[in-house]
Amino acid sequence: MTGYGPVDVIAIDGPSGVGKSTVSRAVACALGWRYLDTGAMYRALTWAVLRNGSSIEDAVDVAVTHPVSIGTDSTAEEVLVDGAHVETEIRSAEVTSAVSAVSAVPEVRLLLVEAQRSLIGDGQIVVEGRDIGTVVVPDARLKIFLTADADIRAGRRAREVGAEATDVGAALRRRDGFDSSREASPLRPALHAVVVDTSDMTQDEVVAHIVSLARLVVS
Ligand code: C5P
Repeated sequence: MTGYGPVDVIAIDGPSGVGKSTVSRAVACALGWRYLDTGAMYRALTWAVLRNGSSIEDAVDVAVTHPVSIGTDSTAEEVLVDGAHVETEIRSAEVTSAVSAVSAVPEVRLLLVEAQRSLIGDGQIVVEGRDIGTVVVPDARLKIFLTADADIRAGRRAREVGAEATDVGAALRRRDGFDSSREASPLRPALHAVVVDTSDMTQDEVVAHIVSLARLVVS
């Protein structure tokens, strides 16, 4: 990143279960840009912490000794720890319930944000997470904050994973509460972010809306 003026990055932040990944990937494909799922990096580190039997306080040491590597191709997911693929493992219930605690450790965030900025490089990339517009790339050309009614998010996620909406809803609320109230880079809309409430929108409508906004601000 040059650090001078807006960079060709679309930052997409928002709570769990709002459809960020599907939407962000589709926007990147439509623009022919790369795509970075920063949540997958926190998940991969959490998986490594659990596999090592390490405590959360030691997460930063695990991040140094077992570096996470992630692809930015919008058409293929690639997440590796110690050279081994962990794309499936990082979506497990164990990782999902531990990831918020690991990602609240300030030193972990420093390390991963640095890695994210180096992956972003000169841009032409859609980056999704919780702190992309606020911390990682505050000068992104377009900042989106995706949101949706909590029950609607729970229903969508429950259909995706084939679980009860009430159980999924409780887990989402717990994770969002943790992510929004932590001291280090809490989840919140960035300054000048466009807030898009997707409660009554289809995924295709959300993608079309963001792509049309992107075409206004990128050449
Ligand atoms: O997006 P996803 O649900 O995969 O993210 C998993 C977790 O990683 C979030 O609940 C949050 O605790 C953490 N995260 C974060 N900052 C980001 C992306 C994800 O703290 N930029």
